[in-house]
Amino acid sequence: MFELTILGSSSATPAYNRNPSSQVLNFNEHYYLIDCGEATQNQLNRYKIKTVRIDYIFISHLHGDHYLGLVGLLSSMHLKGRIEPITIFGPPPLLEIIEIQLKYSETQLRYPFIFIPINAEKEEIILVNDDVSVQTIIMNHRIACTGFLFTEIKKKRKLRPEKILEYNIPVVEMNGIKGGKDFTMENGTIILNEEITIDSPVPRSYAYFSDTIFTPENAIKIKGVDILYHEATFMHDLLDRAKETFHTTALQAGQFAELAGVKMLLVGHFSARYKELEPLLQECRSAFENSFLASEGTKFSV
Ligand SMILES: [Zn+2]
Ligand SMILES: [Zn+2]
Repeated sequence: MFELTILGSSSATPAYNRNPSSQVLNFNEHYYLIDCGEATQNQLNRYKIKTVRIDYIFISHLHGDHYLGLVGLLSSMHLKGRIEPITIFGPPPLLEIIEIQLKYSETQLRYPFIFIPINAEKEEIILVNDDVSVQTIIMNHRIACTGFLFTEIKKKRKLRPEKILEYNIPVVEMNGIKGGKDFTMENGTIILNEEITIDSPVPRSYAYFSDTIFTPENAIKIKGVDILYHEATFMHDLLDRAKETFHTTALQAGQFAELAGVKMLLVGHFSARYKELEPLLQECRSAFENSFLASEGTKFSV
């Protein structure tokens, strides 16, 4: 299971039933919440996503449309009796913002709450577990902002049962062979790993590009990812406005996806000035065919 659900696709303010940024990535029934704009918990309810399954929350930056739903969500988790720990990754001042709200409502969360500050000056791996690794990518926005690259952990190679019998491979050797080692027989003959194992599937990947001005230099960092989400706040006729506000146009988002050679592009973070989104999609597709709108409730899987 590697499935992304879009919870919010609006930029600064909610508009036309579109909510501010939020998405949830379901990876083997562990949920990774990415940004948490206002109304995120309503959206989680609406799409029947169990908040108890959310283990990790990632906040890209401190513009309100990316985190103003966070304390509400944390409070509801507390009220519903959550005991499972939660880990939040975000800009360092986010901790103070959360703590001050909990302090004045005299709330003591029932569950362990772990905060990991993100360094927006240095790209690094911030999480590795059995399923995925998560790396930050520095966005180019008005305030410190990071995107996230989720990459599935590559599974070990699989043994070919018929080869195990043929070469009489002892159990003690098997783990090493799954890890890529060759096998040496008693007579000294070396059996190459490729002959006795099958490679595991190519790891799946998802890149989340939060608010950013068009930054082609970042394309190399996500070469060939399965799905890229990139903001596309404006149509290209508002390029000047996009530059002023450190945002990207739909055309540029398509160009970026083309440069990065991704398999699929999702665009979102639409300005409240657009009632119809189809023109943004068409503009995006003029540069990158396999593009889709990251609209509320849509799911994408790899
Ligand atoms: Zn935003
Ligand atoms: Zn922003």
